[in-house]
Amino acid sequence: MVQPRSLPDDLYRLSPTNSEPRELPEPDVQILTSGGLRIPAHSSILASVSPILENIIDRPRKHRSSQRVIPVVGVPCEAAVSFVRFLYSSRCSEESLEKYGIHLLALSHVYLVPQLKQRCTKDLAQRLTIENVVDVLQLARLCDAPDLYLKCMKLVSKHFKAVEATEGWKFMQDHDPWLELHVLQFIDETESRKQRTRKHREAQSLYLELSEAMECLEHICTEGCTSVGPYDVEPNKKKGPCSKFSTCQGLQLLIGHFATCKKRVNGGCLRCKRMWQLLRLHSSICDQPDSCRVPLCRQFKLRLVQEKKKDDARWKLLVRKVVSAKAISSLSQPKRKRVEELGDSIRSFRL
Ligand SMILES: [Zn+2]
Ligand SMILES: [Zn+2]
Ligand SMILES: [Zn+2]
Repeated sequence: MVQPRSLPDDLYRLSPTNSEPRELPEPDVQILTSGGLRIPAHSSILASVSPILENIIDRPRKHRSSQRVIPVVGVPCEAAVSFVRFLYSSRCSEESLEKYGIHLLALSHVYLVPQLKQRCTKDLAQRLTIENVVDVLQLARLCDAPDLYLKCMKLVSKHFKAVEATEGWKFMQDHDPWLELHVLQFIDETESRKQRTRKHREAQSLYLELSEAMECLEHICTEGCTSVGPYDVEPNKKKGPCSKFSTCQGLQLLIGHFATCKKRVNGGCLRCKRMWQLLRLHSSICDQPDSCRVPLCRQFKLRLVQEKKKDDARWKLLVRKVVSAKAISSLSQPKRKRVEELGDSIRSFRL
């Protein structure tokens, strides 16, 4: 039998703010650590903090006379001491967390001590490194600590090349292929989520461009911009460029082309086709076709009523997206130099 070693004298100090330890009855159980240390303890306190220890304490004993011994083994002796200290005081020093964080997490999980588990989980999450992340990941899974697990996964996924080179990763590959698979899946899903977000952003900016083009089209056909104006009004040459001139300019060029092109839409002219689609889009959005000055607005409205096209649903969706794009962008984005960004994007409309 290993002789008991001396105990840290502050073990039962319930609160560090109290200079005098609180008076307790005689210890009635012993906690046996892996180093053979026996820590005298109070069954009432252990049972009140950990339902698992409560179960052990309530188990019938063979010899009623002997003091109950509860082994807390599988972790370094000092980790067990820190654990018992936490059961008494609900406190854990930074130093213990740093040295025995993973052991304390395991103990808190095994003995169902949620406050300690939370403490360890948070602390370990802050101490994650490329070197220890795989070990902590495995532990987080074993101890059912989802927040820590996710944090590890994110770190691995972000620095995969470096993590892949660590001993921990190689060990896991050999011993836990399922976890390796989970990690790879996680990285894969993160990638495709990023891609989806990117695609969504691209689509959103296209809808926004279209929405701006709609505004410019109306402005050109109602009051005129630099070179194109309503059919019955000469454009005011003295007027400077408007606030959305880069879009307006592209549109004016397109309108100019549309008016003079010999091939036209049916001849397969792509620029005319684009113009045609912009005019149709305008008509779908326009709510005053009778007084509207945009060419073909009423004709498109009439045609839309007459023929129920098959691609109606897709078109309606596009119209909805374009209408909402502006609202969404003004809600979610700070003012950007959108006008500059647009450039001559009018030529790249993909309808
Ligand atoms: Zn303009
Ligand atoms: Zn053309
Ligand atoms: Zn209109």
